[in-house]
Amino acid sequence: MTVNVTPVDHAAAALRPRLGDRLLTSDDARFVTTAAVAIDGPQGPPGMIARPRDAAEVSLVVTAAQDAGLPIAVRGGGHSFGRFGWVEDGLVLDLRLLDHVDLDPAARVGRAGGGTTAGAYTAAAGELGLATGFGDTASVGIAGLTLGGGVGYLSRRDGLTLDNLIAADVVLADGRQVRASADEEPELFWALRGGGGNFGVVTRLHLRLVEQRQVYGGVLMVPLTARALADAATIAYDADENLTVMVNALVAPPVPFVPEAVHGKPVLMMEIAWAGDPADGEAAVAPLRALGAPYLDLLGPKPYAALFEGAPGGPMLHGVGRTGFAAAAAVDDGWAGRVLDLLATSTAAMTIVGLRPLGGAIARVPHEATAFAHRGHELVVSTTAMAPAPVVAAAQAWSDGAAAALGLDGDAYANFLGPVGPEHSRRAYPGATWDRLVAAKAAYDPRNVFRSNHNVPPAR
Ligand SMILES: Cc1cc2nc3c(=O)[nH]c(=O)nc-3n(C[C@H](O)[C@H](O)[C@H](O)COP(=O)(O)OP(=O)(O)OC[C@H]3O[C@@H](n4cnc5c(N)ncnc54)[C@H](O)[C@@H]3O)c2cc1C
Repeated sequence: MTVNVTPVDHAAAALRPRLGDRLLTSDDARFVTTAAVAIDGPQGPPGMIARPRDAAEVSLVVTAAQDAGLPIAVRGGGHSFGRFGWVEDGLVLDLRLLDHVDLDPAARVGRAGGGTTAGAYTAAAGELGLATGFGDTASVGIAGLTLGGGVGYLSRRDGLTLDNLIAADVVLADGRQVRASADEEPELFWALRGGGGNFGVVTRLHLRLVEQRQVYGGVLMVPLTARALADAATIAYDADENLTVMVNALVAPPVPFVPEAVHGKPVLMMEIAWAGDPADGEAAVAPLRALGAPYLDLLGPKPYAALFEGAPGGPMLHGVGRTGFAAAAAVDDGWAGRVLDLLATSTAAMTIVGLRPLGGAIARVPHEATAFAHRGHELVVSTTAMAPAPVVAAAQAWSDGAAAALGLDGDAYANFLGPVGPEHSRRAYPGATWDRLVAAKAAYDPRNVFRSNHNVPPAR
């Protein structure tokens, strides 16, 4: 009798003694829910899920998967638009148990496990009146967000999240544990800051903390007109660096926090934070309130951490999207009018054209200092459509068409880049950044073990 030992059996034999029930295979009742990621997709199920608790176990998993010939996907918060925390028939290295947050207020340093979410870190730091700027969503993983960039409520004042990364503890493809910082493994540190999950598994991030107790902010929703959208883009880009305005043009979805009378109407939804003196907040947001009679005005003084409360729920949808950059001046009445026309043609459950300002502290960092190659751009633009599986092709067609109509065919921000494939990854890492990343990949992951990402193949 011959016994067929599969790669999953092989890896399980190596890992089960150490991980026990933290190793899940498809016969486990918890498998489907544990594998689930935020953005649904068409791939088949993973072969197994390993849930290490520390860097030594991460190293063991990385080695065992390679010995068994299993492809690896590293899963943090599970929010990648490329669905990179999932690999059909392969091993999902699930970092969610590496979620310890350790804050040093005197040194202004936050240390957090590679599976920590933005919400958990922000809540813990908020207790001390401190913060590290992440994005706008609590459930996003801080490692995935940081390694790709990190554009959020504090980035125009404090820089991208990756600009606030002081050091990272990393398990490399050969299982070695190293620290990357300005002084240790400096080329790895350069590549990690923008190059995504290409170079290893980050088990701990060391992040700069700033004092940030209160903000004046929240959500403001006004009627969507071309004039209002163009003005919002100008205000967002020209604003004092303490003011962040993330601008979303969409058809209002039927969700509880949106007044019923507004459901189905084109709206301009702005996520706003004034991070300066809260007493000045009312004046800072006045130009935004003047954009139209508000459908919804949730602006007010609140703890910074409150901006991350109330994470969205609901059924998993396929999310498809395109992304690129635009100059603030390009968002004029004509460009904004095209957005209104495009929204009117979408049949997806939820369709958003999003604009996020860069500039400020982001633009002041020398461009070659990190592998984030987009500091000269002014606005990140994305065209996102969310749809249930049967109609996802129509959503993709809408998103592709919208991106073409809005001129989003050049550089792209990796964290918002959904489509997977070499031609898309090249857009995230243009010019000399690509060449330097390729060389770093050859040094740190020559066999391309970490390839479930916007992949940088190693130089031959
Ligand atoms: C609802 C939503 C809101 C978002 N908001 C923002 C925002 O405001 N600002 C912004 O900049 N981005 C935002 N993003 C994009 C987000 O930053 C990226 O999708 C990011 O990659 C998500 O990280 P994750 O750990 O949650 O995802 P995962 O799918 O778990 O991981 C994504 C990628 O990161 C790598 N990775 C994750 N953790 C590690 C680790 N510890 N070590 C090595 N590699 C790792 C994985 O290999 C994979 O390539 C948002 C995404 C969604 C879906």
